[in-house]
Amino acid sequence: MRRQRNTKILATLGPASSEPPVIRALFDAGADAFRLNFSHGSHSDHRARLKIIRALEQETGRPISVVADLQGPKIRIGEIANGETMIEDGKAFRLDLEDLPGCDTRAPLPHPEVFEALRAGTELLIDDGRVRLAVETAGADFADCRIVTGGRLSNRKGVNVPNAVLPVAALTDKDRTDLRFALDAGVDWIAMSFIQRPDDIAEAKKLIAGQAGVIAKIEKPAAIDRIDEIVDLTDALMVARGDLGVELPVEEVPGLQKRLVQLSRQAGKPVIVATQMLESMVAAPVPTRAEVSDVATAVYDGADAVMLSAETAAGEHPVEAVTVMNRVAERVETDPLYRGIMDAEHADPEATAADAITAAARQVAETISAAAIVTYTTSGSTALRAARERPTSPILVLTPRMGTARRLAIGWGLHCVETEDANDFADMIDRACGVARDENIAAPGQRLVVTAGVPFGTPGATNVLRIAWVPAG
Ligand code: PEP
Repeated sequence: MRRQRNTKILATLGPASSEPPVIRALFDAGADAFRLNFSHGSHSDHRARLKIIRALEQETGRPISVVADLQGPKIRIGEIANGETMIEDGKAFRLDLEDLPGCDTRAPLPHPEVFEALRAGTELLIDDGRVRLAVETAGADFADCRIVTGGRLSNRKGVNVPNAVLPVAALTDKDRTDLRFALDAGVDWIAMSFIQRPDDIAEAKKLIAGQAGVIAKIEKPAAIDRIDEIVDLTDALMVARGDLGVELPVEEVPGLQKRLVQLSRQAGKPVIVATQMLESMVAAPVPTRAEVSDVATAVYDGADAVMLSAETAAGEHPVEAVTVMNRVAERVETDPLYRGIMDAEHADPEATAADAITAAARQVAETISAAAIVTYTTSGSTALRAARERPTSPILVLTPRMGTARRLAIGWGLHCVETEDANDFADMIDRACGVARDENIAAPGQRLVVTAGVPFGTPGATNVLRIAWVPAG
């Protein structure tokens, strides 16, 4: 089974998509990867979904990426008496550490570390910015605020503090428990929420110890301030537009999306554009024209993957949402303008053997109209360099590690197959041709451009490029 597009689709699983036939239908409609959102659901929910995905892999023979998205240090107010209250513009409002239900003049904010970072003038955004408070005076256990935008305040609503670097750890106790669970269960990626500094990624990588890739979710201005260092450290990036659009004025988000996609493409690290892509499809069977345009823009930008959240996790039309995304991505990629953009924003090779070989593979494949570039990779790094080239021909990735095949399923244009390493040059060509034929990537008589590392089976040693004719099967 081969997709007719390079941009990958990541679908979040939830109550609307927990049964095997729905997950199968999402895959058939175009989902290449699934997100387990640890802000919702129990470990047994996530374990059951992962089991269904791994069974689906067996059935379809296609490696599927699974992303565990950790909740991160999400700040929330405490309980409100009777569940909710209305607060009015211009009035005074106190946040404190008292363990008493809130009312229309005060609410508990059970995060002592947040008070340390508050100063006169700091803005607090509650419930995705629907309610706004400005701090007037702050102490170690309270903040006296003015209500800038009043409204309904209800139990445990989220709080964003955009203009402060909060002295909070990147991983809460819950995250550490979820992380251990996710790694034991065998997920392929860990997405880190609300990271603020490069150290947050370094700390996560130390704990993960290579068992999964790390996705840095970019949703805080502090992370944007140190984005180059974060891109250097992380394995992949997510443009988490939901919280990003709360922490920053919404009009900043489109430009940042373009910048983050460009930076990731330069670095050769997968980048996912996320949130509200087809939001109206939570309730409607068809998208708005603006949503179609939004998905198309992410594809034209050259994102590796586009993501669905509530549309597939809790919506009424999960399969239709993936179908629409698939159709839009396929259509955009046939537009000559798309190819023009990919070529115009093509990143120069770095001074490494792997880049020299993958850049040459792209050129050779274009010159001889090869059916595909075939990349042997163990760690997956050469495959990502091949994807960075954004070639016109498909990229067939051959790897002896199922973990690598799964992880690369979110990478632009990568069609991964688990197979043993080549033993010698003849085996390298035979295996590449056989798999390309079996996967309907090349027909007899077509040519392949094959890259590998010699001595065979040595990770990180890509140094060979061969052209092969595909023989009859
Ligand atoms: C986001 O904020 O855009 C995001 C992807 O994170 P979550 O879905 O966890 O809110």
